[in-house]
Amino acid sequence: MLGVDIKSFRSAFQGQVFEPADIGYNEARQIWNASISKQPKLIARCSGVADVIAAVNFGRDNNLLTAIRGGGHNVGGRALCDDGLVIDLSRMRSVFVDAATKRVRVQGGVTLGDLDRETHVFGLAVPCGIVPKTGIGGLTLGGGVGWLIRKYGMSIDNLLSAQVVTADGKVLTASPSENDDLFWALRGGGGNFGVVTSFEFQAHPVATVLGGLLLYPRAAAFDVIRHFRDFITSAPDELTAYVALIHGPDGSPVVAVIPCYCGNVADGERVLQPLRRFGSPIMDGIQEIPFPLMQSLFGPSFPDGNQNYWKSTLQRDLPDEAISAIVEHANRLESPLSAVAIEYYGGAAGRVPNEATAFPHRHLPWDILFIAQWINPAQTNLHRDWARSGEEMLRPYSQNAHLLSALDVEGDDVIKTAFGPNLVRLSAIKNKYDPTNFFRVNQNIKPGAQADAA
Ligand SMILES: Cc1cc2nc3c(=O)[nH]c(=O)nc-3n(C[C@H](O)[C@H](O)[C@H](O)COP(=O)(O)OP(=O)(O)OC[C@H]3O[C@@H](n4cnc5c(N)ncnc54)[C@H](O)[C@@H]3O)c2cc1C
Repeated sequence: MLGVDIKSFRSAFQGQVFEPADIGYNEARQIWNASISKQPKLIARCSGVADVIAAVNFGRDNNLLTAIRGGGHNVGGRALCDDGLVIDLSRMRSVFVDAATKRVRVQGGVTLGDLDRETHVFGLAVPCGIVPKTGIGGLTLGGGVGWLIRKYGMSIDNLLSAQVVTADGKVLTASPSENDDLFWALRGGGGNFGVVTSFEFQAHPVATVLGGLLLYPRAAAFDVIRHFRDFITSAPDELTAYVALIHGPDGSPVVAVIPCYCGNVADGERVLQPLRRFGSPIMDGIQEIPFPLMQSLFGPSFPDGNQNYWKSTLQRDLPDEAISAIVEHANRLESPLSAVAIEYYGGAAGRVPNEATAFPHRHLPWDILFIAQWINPAQTNLHRDWARSGEEMLRPYSQNAHLLSALDVEGDDVIKTAFGPNLVRLSAIKNKYDPTNFFRVNQNIKPGAQADAA
């Protein structure tokens, strides 16, 4: 029965369709994180909005579990599903820049690398994440944090409108003037409300930035992070900066301070002086660089094909005791590919009220990420335990809040913490636009029923 349906679906579909026996199926079901191996019944690689509508209608009419694949970077593998349909947007990657209005429209499968490449032609940039292969779809729907966050806000703060194919196969525009409830929900509510076939963003004049890496030996980590905390919490919005506990190219453990200053370069040189003069760095690679280069500094650290498991937690403050605990835990890293990232947001993103968009954690500027990355699948438990115990260790300092985009495979209780008090409203909007919970391969919001918000 299903076979007959697939045949007629194939004939009406313009993009590519993969079933398990088809050449290309195995490649099409792979994503960046090799820890994920799922076997969809059907992968529909869409060529445009008409294909997306056909795929949604087919999935719904045949009662198929349906996933949406953007860039495939969700660490828990939510781009795929077993025995169901994957609506694959990876060929919908066009970017259109209107230099006069600085408005940028991107298709739903665009990666950050695609976006930066096109906007840079016009000396513009859209605030997004820091690794080129990440999809703009999942990133934006989760909020979107990156190097321009303190000056220009999160990706959702720069979203002007979105085109969405909903569960009934209709095409809607979500914007402040059309379906404004949906527009609110898309800005932090994840892939719960439909397939976003295109996003429209406000871009900003950012061509080059003052950025790069400042490296210190791991032994200096506590002092470096404490100084970083005191510095960044009163830094101007033009500066966003993270710290990472990583291994250097020669395999030695180091602590990296990574600033990105997006204002006037001479001002940036002055602003960054206290950071660069602190202690005895073993390397100072900070210089004026094209913004796409800043955006690709960490691309090589996340190659396709490694095993990955992530845990993270949002905090209001970063007390000395938390810093000690983080450094000690980083010193117990079980894999040289693993890392701890300490990210500080705030700035423009922090001044938006928590209820203005679905993203509820503006008041928690510190995000601590335990990124376990390894090669041998037989060592999975070891590396997962390291990431999990890092997050558990920080619970006395954290607010039991998590960034939606960084959630690995988690239970409903943890997922609820990503939506916080906004869950009640999200749940009602889910009920309006997806009452049967057709879109549920995601950090799921149940239609209507969730009155017990975290
Ligand atoms: C190496 C790496 C670096 C990262 N860095 C950052 C960062 O700097 N900042 C940040 O904010 N996040 C970052 N993230 C997290 C990232 O934003 C999320 O993993 C996000 O889900 C990735 O989006 P994607 O489209 O690649 O995901 P996918 O795995 O393709 O999809 C993830 C989820 O989003 C939904 N989705 C995707 N596209 C659409 C669409 N067009 N319409 C509807 N639903 C859709 C899917 O249903 C799915 O539930 C990073 C992740 C990785 C792996």
